[in-house]
Amino acid sequence: MIENLNTQNLAPFLDELDVVFNDMDKEFEDAAKYYGFSCAGCDDNCCKSLFYHYTAAEYLFLARGMDGLSDGERTSAFERADAYASAMAGAPNGGNSPQRIICPLNVFGGCILYGFRPMICRLFGLPHEFTRPAGGRVSGPGCDRFLEVCKEKEYRRFDRTPYYARLAGLEKSLRNATGINGKIKMTVADMLVYMEAGVKT
Ligand code: SF4
Repeated sequence: MIENLNTQNLAPFLDELDVVFNDMDKEFEDAAKYYGFSCAGCDDNCCKSLFYHYTAAEYLFLARGMDGLSDGERTSAFERADAYASAMAGAPNGGNSPQRIICPLNVFGGCILYGFRPMICRLFGLPHEFTRPAGGRVSGPGCDRFLEVCKEKEYRRFDRTPYYARLAGLEKSLRNATGINGKIKMTVADMLVYMEAGVKT
């Protein structure tokens, strides 16, 4: 799947993803400001949510972030990822239960690879909409905390479609250039376990 790839050789793709993510962050911040929304004081840490990620681009971007950690930090992250994977394997329904385990990159309440986090970590929380590739509009109401503290505010349009499209286009180019193929469905812990296994070198 994602074998023998060096994140340095993929710099143009990862730099482009950085731009997409920065644009995404900017729109999210603007919308959060409009609502007066903040994660501060939230007990329901969304880093305990079972998020799956679907692109090699996000995997490789996270790998780039891992490259910047010290050996000790990386080893600790791998250990937490192994523990996460073991806990999920022992969970009812093979990890699809509501059991909530903190992401192995969350340390003392903060993400140690915040600048390299995947897309859903950046978009989660605010009400939004998007158009499916095959057509049809979908909308989401925002996270529980948002509904608790900001529900009186009028909806400010946040269309995820352009970001999904940009990520999909980038993924396609990356796969064409590298020969990466196959479906990807990984949690952050899965990604770290995969990296740890030495598939990414
Ligand atoms: S990658 Fe970072 S932001 Fe995303 S769930 Fe893990 S700790 Fe939280």
